Amino acid sequence: MTPRKPVPALLLRDYYMGRDKLYRSELTRELRANARDTLRRVNRLLRRAGMMRKVSSGWRPAAINAGVPGAAKGSRHLTCLAIDLEDRDGALDAWCLAHLDVLETLGLWLENPQATIGWCHLQTRPPRSGSRVFMP
Ligand SMILES: [Zn+2]
Repeated sequence: MTPRKPVPALLLRDYYMGRDKLYRSELTRELRANARDTLRRVNRLLRRAGMMRKVSSGWRPAAINAGVPGAAKGSRHLTCLAIDLEDRDGALDAWCLAHLDVLETLGLWLENPQATIGWCHLQTRPPRSGSRVFMP
């Protein structure tokens, strides 16, 4: 048996990307609770996958989201219910597609990898369609 290298957990500061200081008044108690919950689920997923990933987009205050090309107006990033992880080689997206049961257990939904080339979008609430893997 090969022991797995431990995967360091993503931290809140990775998720907030400094925006918790710049947009402090927007970061409500509810959003902070959401961020903790999102990280808890995503860290479990990364541990299961044995992969280390950086946050490419975490919390987006409204002003930031408005400047993100293609970002949905009602993006789950606004309420700390979504995260984008760097996934240049698509290995994490592929792992997720092959382990939808793990996503289900953890309560995570995946944006269709065809729409997220280079990153992996996960969220802790179902999309309107209810599909585990969904088109934005
Ligand atoms: Zn995203």
